[in-house]
Amino acid sequence: MEGTPKDTLDPVDWPAFRAQGHRMLDDILDYLEHIRERPVWQPIPQNVRTLFREALPQEPSDLATVHKTFMQDILPFSVGNAHPGFMGWVHGGGTPVGMLAEMLAAGLNSNLGGRDQIPIEVERQVVQWVRDLFGFPQTATGLFVTGTSMANLISVLVARTAALGGNVRHTGMAAGHQRLTAYTSAGAHSCITQAVDLAGLGIDALRIIPMNEHYQIDTVALDQAIRADRRAGLTPFFIAGTAGTVDVGAIDDLAILADMAHKEGLWFHVDGAYGALAMLAPEIAPRLAGLEQADSIAFDFHKWGQVPYDAGFILVRDGQLHHQTFASTAVYLKRETRGLAAGSPWPCDFGPDLSRGFRALKTWFTIKVYGAKRLGRVISDTCALAQYLRQRIESEPMLEILAPVSLNIVCFRYRCEDSDRVNANIVADLQESGIAAPSTTTINGRLAIRAAIVNHRTNTSDIDALIRATIVFGQANTEDIPPRRIR
Ligand SMILES: *Cc1c(COP(=O)(O)O)cnc(C)c1O
Repeated sequence: MEGTPKDTLDPVDWPAFRAQGHRMLDDILDYLEHIRERPVWQPIPQNVRTLFREALPQEPSDLATVHKTFMQDILPFSVGNAHPGFMGWVHGGGTPVGMLAEMLAAGLNSNLGGRDQIPIEVERQVVQWVRDLFGFPQTATGLFVTGTSMANLISVLVARTAALGGNVRHTGMAAGHQRLTAYTSAGAHSCITQAVDLAGLGIDALRIIPMNEHYQIDTVALDQAIRADRRAGLTPFFIAGTAGTVDVGAIDDLAILADMAHKEGLWFHVDGAYGALAMLAPEIAPRLAGLEQADSIAFDFHKWGQVPYDAGFILVRDGQLHHQTFASTAVYLKRETRGLAAGSPWPCDFGPDLSRGFRALKTWFTIKVYGAKRLGRVISDTCALAQYLRQRIESEPMLEILAPVSLNIVCFRYRCEDSDRVNANIVADLQESGIAAPSTTTINGRLAIRAAIVNHRTNTSDIDALIRATIVFGQANTEDIPPRRIR
C-alpha cells in the first residue's frame, strides 16, 4: 500500500479538486459581492438546526456535496456581520483581501508558536507597525491573540509580575503578603472583570469606578478609591482605562489616567478593543492622547481594522516583564542558535498559547493592500455615519437619543409607553426583518437600541433604512398591529 493515494488525505484527482476549489472560491466571492441584496440575518428554521445534530460520520462524503450543505444551510444563517446593515455589538465586516489571505495561511498551515520561519517575521513586522502606531519603544513586545478578552488577561498577568515579581508564578497569589487591587470604570467591558478573576486576584479585587457625565471613568472617584485602599493596607497595582466603551463609545481621559498611574506607581493598561485603532484616523487620534504612555494596550484588528476573525493583539511596553511572565524552560522547546530551533524568543514566550495560527498574515495583507490611510478613512467614515444617524434621530419626533455620540455608537429609543419592552421588540423585529441588526444596551436604567457602525460597507442608505424600519416597527408595536415584513 505504500505510496498509494489512499495513504493520504490529499485528493486523488487534483484537476477535479482544483475545479471544485475554484467553484467554492467563486461562491464565497459572490456572497461578498452581492451581500447587500441579502437579509442581514434570518431566523434559523428548525429543520436546518436539526441538520447539525447528526451522528459522527464514519464514511466519506463528496466535497461538492458538503459544500452544497454549506451554501444552503450554513452561509445564509451566520450572524451577518459582513453585511452593511449589521450594527449589533462591535463586529468588524472583514474584507475579501483578508479572506484570501486567511485561505493562503490555511494552505501553509503554519504553527506560529515558535521556530525559525518567515511567518514569525511577518508577525514581528506587524508588531513593529503597532509599536510605531502607538509610539512605543523598540523594547516593547506584541503578540497576536484570539481577541481583546485574552489580551486583557495577558495585561493583568504581566502587571501582576510587575507588582509581585516573577516568583509569583511559583508561589501563587496566596503566598504573597500583599493584597492587590485593580481599578476600572463602570463602562468597562466585562472581560476586565474576567481577567482579574482568571489571574487569581478574585473579582472583588477589582474596583468598579463610576462614570462622569461623558461616560468616562470619574478620575476623582478613582483617586479616592486608590487612597482608601492604601489606607486599608491593600496594594493598588492596576488601572484599566477604555478607549471606546462598548456601550456608548466613550474614551476615558487617558492622559489623566497615565498621570495618576505614573504618580501612584500603578500599571496603566488600556482596553482599546475597537477604539485604539482610531490612531489611524488623523482627526480622532488626538482624542486618544495618553495612550502612548500606557504600559500595555489590548485591541482587535477584527473590529475597526476589518481583518477577518480572529485577530486580537496585546502590546506591552516592558518586553522583559512580558517575557518573564510567560517564558518556560521545557526541554522539548529548547532554543538553538542555528537550524529550525533558532530565532528565540518565540511567540509562545509571550502568552499562554503554544500552537498558534498565522493571524499575522491576514493582518499584514490587509495593511499592505489597503494601506494605513485608507483603513483610517474607514474608521472616520463610520464615525461620520454615526453623526448622520444622530442627526436623523434628532429630526424624527418619535425617536430620542439616549447617550452622547462620541465615536461610532448611537444609543436611542422609540418614544412610547412601556418603552423598554417596546424597544426590545423593535430590535428583535429589525433583526428578524433582515433590514438592519442593531443590538440593545441599558443607558441610565433605560433599554436602548444600540447601533455600532463598524463595517466599511455601511453607508447612509443603511442608516436611512434603519430609521425607516424603526419607526414602522415602533408604530406596529404600539398600535398592536402585528409587524409585517416591510422589506
Ligand atoms: C469587543 C470588546 C472586548 C472584547 O474583545 P474580544 O475580541 O471580543 O475578546 C473588550 N473590550 C471592549 C471595549 C470591546 O469592545
